[in-house]
Amino acid sequence: MADIEAMLDALNDQQREAVLENGRPLLVLAGAGSGKTRVITTKIAYAIEKLGIPAYKILAVTFTNKAASEMKQRVKVMLDGNARADECTIRTFHSFGAWLLRRFGSEIGLASNFTIYDDDDSLSLLASCFPNYKKRELEPVMRKISYAKDRGLRPTDNLTSLKVDGTFKRMYEAYERKLRSIGNVDFADLIGRSIELLEEKPGVLDWVHHRFSMILVDEYQDSNAAQFNLLKLLVGPACFICVVGDDDQSIYRFRGAEVRNILSFPELYHGTRTIKLEQNYRSTKHILDVANSVIKNNKGRHDKKLWTAKTKGSKPNLLYIQDEQDEAMRVSNILLSDKKFNESAVLYRTNAQSVAFETMFKRLSIPYKVVGALQFYDREEVKDALALLFLLTNEKDEVNFKRMINKPARGIGPGALDSILSFASQTDGSLFAMLRLAIQGNILSTKAKAGASYFLRMFEHAQAMLGEGELVDCANFLIREAGLLDYYQELDSQNSTGKVGNLEALVNALSSYDSSLEGLLLFLEQLSLDPTTLGREDPRDKEGVTLITMHNTKGLEFDRVFVAGLEEELFPGRASESDDDIEEERRIFYVAVTRARNELYLLCARARKIWGRTSYQHPSRFLDEIDSSLVSVQGIRPGSLHASGFEGFSSLGEKRREHLSAAKPSSSWGSSGGSLIQKGFGGNAKTFTMKTVHDEADAGPLFPVGQRV
Ligand code: ATP
Ligand code: MG
Repeated sequence: MADIEAMLDALNDQQREAVLENGRPLLVLAGAGSGKTRVITTKIAYAIEKLGIPAYKILAVTFTNKAASEMKQRVKVMLDGNARADECTIRTFHSFGAWLLRRFGSEIGLASNFTIYDDDDSLSLLASCFPNYKKRELEPVMRKISYAKDRGLRPTDNLTSLKVDGTFKRMYEAYERKLRSIGNVDFADLIGRSIELLEEKPGVLDWVHHRFSMILVDEYQDSNAAQFNLLKLLVGPACFICVVGDDDQSIYRFRGAEVRNILSFPELYHGTRTIKLEQNYRSTKHILDVANSVIKNNKGRHDKKLWTAKTKGSKPNLLYIQDEQDEAMRVSNILLSDKKFNESAVLYRTNAQSVAFETMFKRLSIPYKVVGALQFYDREEVKDALALLFLLTNEKDEVNFKRMINKPARGIGPGALDSILSFASQTDGSLFAMLRLAIQGNILSTKAKAGASYFLRMFEHAQAMLGEGELVDCANFLIREAGLLDYYQELDSQNSTGKVGNLEALVNALSSYDSSLEGLLLFLEQLSLDPTTLGREDPRDKEGVTLITMHNTKGLEFDRVFVAGLEEELFPGRASESDDDIEEERRIFYVAVTRARNELYLLCARARKIWGRTSYQHPSRFLDEIDSSLVSVQGIRPGSLHASGFEGFSSLGEKRREHLSAAKPSSSWGSSGGSLIQKGFGGNAKTFTMKTVHDEADAGPLFPVGQRV
């Protein structure tokens, strides 16, 4: 029996009030580290143990898959191994949407075996609708489509708020039509189509209202319009709703997050009780002072007081350093002095900044883990094998069909592919049916016909194997017979890569699932939502220094935090132009700094390689906002009289922009950072490509596009 009284005793008065309020709608609006997440976990335990609410009637929504699994774990521990803890639904909004659509999607014409498209898949689908466009031209369109969906806007809606033209509307319509005809969903649809389901099917809405009697949402300040609408539908007349968040930590505006959602909560839910938590349990006063001195420059904030009993500790350090190598060296020296690797984290604004640290840490044998840029799932060989499996579960999956029909080459060029697809109108969209018709129709060259027949027979055989419940054998069969094994073995031997090992890891992961079609569907769904579940250890569970983007640090805490790259055009980022953009960057700064428990280091370089060229940097405006008495400064601030040898910054800023436009790769896929290419780290002419639009790549609801080449 869990000791609920002891748990309540461990809370302060306001937190306890929040746990005990289970009637009126509840808004907990409070600053960083004040125990909002702790309130949610305690509420769940309290509801089960004291209020007798059946665990399965509780839904908790978190921002990342990692947060969800941590919350599950916490609740389990609190309930002292009570088996019912597992029955709570603790998920992200997107994973909840997938869960709902798998159950009831058929009511709105969605097969239960639908595939969830990631950003790349969605782009390929859009490209297939508009073959005359280059992918590079379609990327911004796709981004805008996702943005529209996050805002809850369908192609038929009035899109004027998006500032788009008629062409966009037509493209959005065509994309949506195609996606629906194939029967798959993209990431944003997990929310959008769930809304559609609940709006159109009163029976399902009723089921949901009976199912959940308590809904709790963490990090509510980052919910977008679509999630807001979904939540509104989920909360039935007899349901208790509690949301917690911090308007100062809203950092996903570029993905459609609306800070308004949290501030207007009491207007939507009448009789709302608002509780503010004012004690920060995480950081020292020195650290909070720095965070507050910057965030107070944002206008229109909700008034909040935050105090801490941790008045001891040393002042945060502000280090002016030479360049990114020096930055990595300084951090390394500090880390090596006490070897508190596990308790330390390096936070940066863009993924590409990790490279200098990784190179230095490797050289000095400092253990580290990079969180964010997804490695495994994004690898070409893994995506290939998965494409075969997706196609196996859904023979209308055109994107994956196109990816694999001629990979490795089996004589089916673009002409043959067009001929095959031209049979679409005579089928229900099944690509295998089209293949059959094309083979019978004698319209393919001998070579293409042989390739098509082979591909079709291979899948027929695989389907039979799956029908027999031989999932692992079936996956091995497809990987081998499709030619992937030979293809990647050859590449491995040429380049000393480990691609075959990754294919093996994929099958290993699959082997822990039920060996039926259901097992495969569950595997693919979990993978789509959280690639780290792929039987591979989560990088965050490894030992060592954490390297992480600021976006990814939501909700986390570390004893010691290094905030790197505090320079104009890097942080705040170069895409920040309007006041709103700057305010968002300021909130990111606030999130970053408030991750620290005891030690904080702010780093600012005078020069840095941008697109492979040296750029002279100007200190971040956020540093100017920190009262000089709050930090210990080391080194000389660039731009001051002592910094001889550097040109004036205005002209250098110009020069930097020239570098950027000269060297910016054509296919930038990002709003906040775009693709960054940095060359020549550690003397190697290595190229790293990182797509930083999803700095928050691992942050759960978004699809990871971060990739190392
Ligand atoms: P964030 O805004 O960063 O998400 P939060 O408000 O969710 O932060 P928590 O993560 O719940 O804050 O709590 C911050 C830290 O303070 C955690 O280590 C937590 O265990 C601790 N904490 C919270 N409440 C108390 C308390 N009453 N007594 C002691 N420690 C507490
Ligand atoms: Mg939290």
